[in-house]
Amino acid sequence: MVYTDKIYEVGERPPLGVIPRKMYAWTIRNERLGSPETAFQVELVDVPEIRDDELLICNMSAGINYNGIWASKGVPKNVIDSNGDYFDEKQDFHICGSESSGIVYAVGKDVQKYRVGDAICVGGLKYDAKDKAILAGMDPCFSASYHIWGYEGNYGAFAQFSRVKECQCVRIAKNLTFEEAAAAYATGVTAYRMLSRWEGNTLQQGDVVLVWGGAGGLGLSAIQTVVAMGGIPVAVVSSDEKGELCKKMGAAGYINRKKFHHWGNVNQLSEREYRNWIAQATKFKRMIWKIVGEKKSPAIVLEHPGKDTLPTSLFVCGNGGMVVLCGATSSYKADIDLRFLWLNQRRIQGSHAGTLEDADKYIDLVERKDIHPYIGKVYHWSELPQAHADLENHAYNGKLVIQIGVK
Ligand code: NDP
Repeated sequence: MVYTDKIYEVGERPPLGVIPRKMYAWTIRNERLGSPETAFQVELVDVPEIRDDELLICNMSAGINYNGIWASKGVPKNVIDSNGDYFDEKQDFHICGSESSGIVYAVGKDVQKYRVGDAICVGGLKYDAKDKAILAGMDPCFSASYHIWGYEGNYGAFAQFSRVKECQCVRIAKNLTFEEAAAAYATGVTAYRMLSRWEGNTLQQGDVVLVWGGAGGLGLSAIQTVVAMGGIPVAVVSSDEKGELCKKMGAAGYINRKKFHHWGNVNQLSEREYRNWIAQATKFKRMIWKIVGEKKSPAIVLEHPGKDTLPTSLFVCGNGGMVVLCGATSSYKADIDLRFLWLNQRRIQGSHAGTLEDADKYIDLVERKDIHPYIGKVYHWSELPQAHADLENHAYNGKLVIQIGVK
């Protein structure tokens, strides 16, 4: 390996075997916290050194997600203050980005599967692979050492190079480009785990799945995955145009949520208001039945808006079914009517990211069913703050990605 002082511009790649000492990165610093437009700035920083179980990746493309928005705002946590807590040395800057595709430029001596020159996908779930409980068979997503790369840990994807652990890496599906691979990984593996991981409530052939935010990054990916696994996706969206896109991507139909008004917490409602809430939620459930063509309620509800929708998710879920939740875009302070949980023996299950096993199975599915993620927009490297602002404003459907290894 040769180290060089030469500065490579974004889009230029050093030859394999050559590693620059400095790289361009979008950094966040304490004094700039507030919004993606102010918080993110390009700086020239040191290329991180790798440890024995780590790889140095030359990023080609990266997915945009809410981690960058929250990191820019500094809430619910200040990522700069805590970035030394997760296998990294403490730095006064933070490089975000939790989903990437790229090329391996260096490997530590303990790395087994990958070699310099391999094209790989990098996911956000990072953990200590030598954790005794994991070695004994525990799901790595349950490990105390697990955290999200590029949010809780530093040296994420929004840089020319990233330092990653082998347990974050998977091969790129043969049918995908670098942009598609970066777009597919996080939402695809998250959706796949939500549908396949939770024993007793895994997706079965012909099951109805309600997908909130059907035209969003996670939603479109979930629709494709449900179809590929033999289920019947029903989308919830905020416009007919988005609903038609969901149908094009495989949804059996859609519900325009703007036609309903029963959103948010239920515990502050008066008895009269709550009766009205039940009437609205019942109407919503009947719309699902109408789309499906029979009185078949969702076996799985794929939930992520949180506060606004959780009471409805639980109400419309089939008996013995599961509301599986991976986020809380509208607020994480939600409430529910507990009767619908125990009387109908439904389950609320949290789900977060996915393991390497989930990722491998998902990539197999992507190849077998020739799934291509729906990309709302591919941004140039220089447009990264705008990409985050667009995500926050829901400016585009589907997944947003930036190019890094392209001029
Ligand atoms: P997007 O912004 O692309 O899509 C989210 C969609 O949710 C929107 O398009 C919108 O659709 C819908 N939505 C937003 N607010 C509400 C609301 N109040 N009520 C109902 N629907 C709403 O985001 P992503 O799909 O990328 O991510 C969605 C969520 O999933 C985020 O919270 C994200 O953090 C989480 N996530 C979690 C992961 C994990 O591993 N835990 C991985 C990936 C995502 P419309 O207006 O059309 O209804």
